Amino acid sequence: MPDLSFVIPVYNEEASLERLYAELTAAAAPLKLSYEVVLTDDASTDRSWSILQQLAQRDPRWRAQRFAYNCGESAASAAGMKAAGGDIIITLDADLQNDPADLPAFLRALENADCVCGSRVHHRADHWVRRLSSRIANAVRNRLSGESISDAGCTYRAFRRSMLAEVKFFRGAHRFLPTLFRMEGYRVVEIPITPRERFAGYSKYSIGNRVFKSFADLLAVRWMKSRRLNYRVAETTRR
Ligand code: UDP
Ligand code: MG
Repeated sequence: MPDLSFVIPVYNEEASLERLYAELTAAAAPLKLSYEVVLTDDASTDRSWSILQQLAQRDPRWRAQRFAYNCGESAASAAGMKAAGGDIIITLDADLQNDPADLPAFLRALENADCVCGSRVHHRADHWVRRLSSRIANAVRNRLSGESISDAGCTYRAFRRSMLAEVKFFRGAHRFLPTLFRMEGYRVVEIPITPRERFAGYSKYSIGNRVFKSFADLLAVRWMKSRRLNYRVAETTRR
């Protein structure tokens, strides 16, 4: 089993994949750790799958699976995590908005935490409507879920694979993974990362399907958190 598993959801990212391969391979080499890259093609309608097949043929560390139909980022991410075998999982987007050059910072922070989340502090080249909507979404999310994650929309994260046994995924869960981990008592920290612009392809989300759809998920997470089992055993007879 490798030390690291990179888990990457892919939906219509044909123009990014070769560059992703080059940048990730270059950034991973100096880490001196064994790794694999697990890509899940969420039923792309462009050439993504055929490129992924080529990459998997070129490099045995790269492997891919393809969904039968478009299932969403959470499902693609979860399926990748299930197929992964490394001790540490690092999730990132296929579009290179997450810079592989930040990897050493994630691994360093992981020495004193269970989960490290990237936070795009110096936001960013995005359109102001998008910046504002993500700011509001984060504020509402934190307020209602009693959280303090400054950038839940950033899915560049590192954590130990064993932690996944404790959490249940659902559609939209990728936005709440830090909260789900914290609910299980894990230490979640954030590190600042350098966001990059999407240089090819298009974002799969709009304000409508990002902010409003995730609101229902937020209420569910809030409820789950409030109903968490809380107990402490004081004494036992012999076992
Ligand atoms: N993605 C996916 N299935 C979807 C939507 C997105 O696998 O239905 C992938 C997408 O290819 C990318 C990641 O999830 O690797 C994040 O999507 P995107 O970059 O569009 O989101 P943004 O960065 O704009 O929040
Ligand atoms: Mg993106």
